[in-house]
Amino acid sequence: TVSRAASNTDVRDRDLASVFHSWSAQGKISPLPIARGEGATLWDHDGNEYLDFSSQLVNVTIGYQHPKVIAAIQEQAAQLITIAPAHANETRARAAELILSHAPEGFSKVFFTNGGADAIENAIRLARLSTGRDKVVSLYRSYHGNTGAAIVATGDWRRIPNEYATGHVHAFGPYLYRSEFWAETPEQESERALHHLERVIQAEGPASVAAILIESIPGTAGVLLPPPGYLAGVREIADRYGMMLILDEVMAGFGRTGEWFAFDAFDVRPDLITFAKGVNSGYVPVGGVVISEEIAARFDDDVFPGGLTYSGHPLAAASIVATLETMAEEGIVENAARLGRDVIGPALRELAARHDVVGEVRGKGVFWAIELVSDPVTRAPLAAADMATIKSQLVARGLLPFIADNRIHVVPPAVVADADARRGVAIIDEVLGGF
Ligand code: PLP
Repeated sequence: TVSRAASNTDVRDRDLASVFHSWSAQGKISPLPIARGEGATLWDHDGNEYLDFSSQLVNVTIGYQHPKVIAAIQEQAAQLITIAPAHANETRARAAELILSHAPEGFSKVFFTNGGADAIENAIRLARLSTGRDKVVSLYRSYHGNTGAAIVATGDWRRIPNEYATGHVHAFGPYLYRSEFWAETPEQESERALHHLERVIQAEGPASVAAILIESIPGTAGVLLPPPGYLAGVREIADRYGMMLILDEVMAGFGRTGEWFAFDAFDVRPDLITFAKGVNSGYVPVGGVVISEEIAARFDDDVFPGGLTYSGHPLAAASIVATLETMAEEGIVENAARLGRDVIGPALRELAARHDVVGEVRGKGVFWAIELVSDPVTRAPLAAADMATIKSQLVARGLLPFIADNRIHVVPPAVVADADARRGVAIIDEVLGGF
């Protein structure tokens, strides 16, 4: 049972005494205690209210405590709380069917994992086994998870202290605001980033490359919408050299962009799709790989050398079924698209026009980034100390932000009320007024 009597101070002290935190110097953190939530709102133990503009780690797309999903998890718990992956289970089959119903033609199977990182591990494994090749090319501006291959496929700083897996190569992807290619238009950025990617692959030896692995829209790296033709061009390169294309939809997938899969908005078809987060809004840990018919068929006679005790856990499966049904019934994906088009996008563009500290805003659906700069001409990123001040000022005003480097990511649940979405942007507006 949840202790109602605990105070923020009690909970924080006990947490710091016994919980070892992700990505942290343990002595330098002060985690915000959270007691309960509903929709897009959270409350701490002292009764303070927070509007969640982070969806935690950009996963709580349907908001906290959706009653239909909670009920489905409770019903599954009452009927059969756990069962090994080797058994057939109706809830698990239904979860796979529903996921496949949102994938393009030609995808036939789902392999369930415990989260996003092991989805990446298994997608890489499938690509290596299907091609008989070893290397994986991914982008510097990316995050793919914190397990063996996934963290080395990751491009950002978190890769560097973890480089134990082999066979990983990186390239720069398109990012016009900070172009690596001296591009001035989205078309130039797209063409030059594709040229660079192909040159990296040629220099690595295309016959050694199993897969190109990219986030359909790089998320933690800054909500970097691919320019026209980029994803289709990556597909062409993969085809030209017989490589698999893995699209990582862990953050962008299942509604965040206003599409079921982020790549639905682009002219591209991957061979493998990784998912997690939005598929069940993180109610139970789960992820997985959606596998094309051709790749799945390779394992009709040959053994797939992979598996997990909790692959397709019934509580996770029940939460997926209820989440995907609820999202369809309540039009949550369409609402994400509308919020981006009619509410968040216009509000953020006005914000950008009012503040020199805003270098660029970009995004779609409930997936946006505000890029902050100390100088709009040189585009120098706002300093880390200023970002920390901004974060604490936002939290003090009751807004929970997702901050990455010099950016505020505006990534609320897709069920946030229009008035709350505007109120959150108004809080950001007020805080940026001081910079
Ligand atoms: N891939 C992407 C695009 C992600 O954003 C993340 C997590 O943020 C992962 C993979 C890893 O997922 P998990 O933290 O569930 O292992």
